[in-house]
Amino acid sequence: MTSPKPSIRACAIALALGTVSIAMAAQPEPAAQPNPLPATQHKWAIVLHGGAGVIERSSMTPEADAQYRAGLKEAISAAGAVLDKGGSALDAVEAAIRLLEDNPLFNAGRGAVFAADGTNQLDAAIMDGATMHAGAVADVQHTRNPISLARAVMEKSPYVMLIGSGADAFSAHVGLPQEPQSYFFTERRWQSLLKQLGKEGLPIPPRPQGAPPAPAEPLAFFETPDNHKFGTVGVVALDRNGNIAAGTSTGGVQAKQWSRVGDSPLIGAGTYASNQSCAVSATGTGEYFIRLTVARTICALVQYKGMSLQAAADEVVQHQLPAIHGDGGIIAITPDGQLAWSFNTPGMFRAKLQEGGQPQIGVYRDEP
Ligand code: ASP
Repeated sequence: MTSPKPSIRACAIALALGTVSIAMAAQPEPAAQPNPLPATQHKWAIVLHGGAGVIERSSMTPEADAQYRAGLKEAISAAGAVLDKGGSALDAVEAAIRLLEDNPLFNAGRGAVFAADGTNQLDAAIMDGATMHAGAVADVQHTRNPISLARAVMEKSPYVMLIGSGADAFSAHVGLPQEPQSYFFTERRWQSLLKQLGKEGLPIPPRPQGAPPAPAEPLAFFETPDNHKFGTVGVVALDRNGNIAAGTSTGGVQAKQWSRVGDSPLIGAGTYASNQSCAVSATGTGEYFIRLTVARTICALVQYKGMSLQAAADEVVQHQLPAIHGDGGIIAITPDGQLAWSFNTPGMFRAKLQEGGQPQIGVYRDEP
């Protein structure tokens, strides 16, 4: 006999009244998802991305190139350390994404792109392949680490997705660090926004309150036609118990309007994990990834068509997406240790690491 579970409505009321313990795991109990391999056969592994787009050697200074690689290495090493100690795939995903969110180079957390109104509007999702529990947030503006908020939604609320000021209120309620908008500000992203708004003839919002004074000299970094597409972050991991997880965090697309939300926080589009198939995190122009439910489609090809992970990823990213003019890429992992990435852009910031190995880091298309 199973014990009775709290109804979703009862949980919602308790939350609203502030009477609920934040440790309550309110999502329904999962159906058991046994992993095909015994635990002893699993070597941990991680794949991560830091965004896809027109990333070419000609448009990157050696300094920028080195900084991105260092950021990817730091994040994948941190996730590896979690897994090496026997930590869960979920913990590894959260740990790596928090570092990438804290790193101002990436379009997630601090350093996120700006919306047209001059705010940073952050989206994130996380999914646990062992239970198929998931948590997601969109248009968060004050939570320092949106991926931790997504995890809190999964573990401490009866819901899968929260948005806007309600999501930030829940974040404060469960005790996650809150920040003023100026915490997320970077000069590089601000200049990039002003340039795009100018080109599109859109009104220029005031410089955000609390931002440092504008520099006298123009910034020396790198500039490409679509640099607003750089830097969404995502991680997939396999732990020694054979469980997989996926997470994605982003500021979305630059100069977005009207509370636009992309694929990253949408389960099945930009983020998905199930021990029955695979875990995927995507990056690219979200509208196309939403229409093709890219992450779930790749996993369905693995689960129902028996395709290898790489073949499934390539089918969607190299054929189905381009057929509707979608650009971007994905990273993926399976419980039996297949790792994959696939992108149809000139570059994607990416890294892989398997137990006992060294991080393999890539930026441009011609790298292995
Ligand atoms: N997929 C993200 C979005 O559409 C952006 C990106 O990955 O570059 O919001």
